[in-house]
Amino acid sequence: MTIAMYPGSFDPVTNGHVDIIQRAAVIFDKVIVAVAVNSKKKPLFDEEERIELLRQSVKHLPNVSVAKAEGLTVDFARKHDAKVLIRGLRAVSDFENEMQISGINRHLEPGLETLFITADSAYSFLSSSIVKEAASFGADISKLVPPPVQEAIKQKY
Ligand code: ADP
Repeated sequence: MTIAMYPGSFDPVTNGHVDIIQRAAVIFDKVIVAVAVNSKKKPLFDEEERIELLRQSVKHLPNVSVAKAEGLTVDFARKHDAKVLIRGLRAVSDFENEMQISGINRHLEPGLETLFITADSAYSFLSSSIVKEAASFGADISKLVPPPVQEAIKQKY
């Protein structure tokens, strides 16, 4: 049984994230979405809200679970027996940073393989930040995020 983890901030989860999760869930026996508790970024949604919105957005996928991730990604992987780390790649601009992150993780834990899944062209422009910015000005984001997220963002702005 191969377990994969998909770490990120998910502030909030978008349809681009859900697409990556669905595609990973076809490949692996189990996918754990690891929600980062990152003290440096001030999130719009706190960790409990981000976890709850993810849970609602992946409830149709029986082999996907959502967990809080504190500390190093490699420690989370060890604890949950994950052997593969999934990241999404949208554009060349993602590449440099992702190479660096995968490099340090490989240095820290050579047994954990990073696997990149390229964004679907329908979502290659999509990020949590762009969704928040658009929503803050009243834009229609119904095609960009799962329905529970749309509702939750409405409450914030
Ligand atoms: P982080 O703050 O760790 O980058 P994010 O929540 O922004 O976390 O993203 C988590 C992962 O999902 C990253 O690998 C990111 O590149 C990927 N991702 C984000 N948006 C999309 C998208 N629209 N399509 C595919 N992958 C995406």
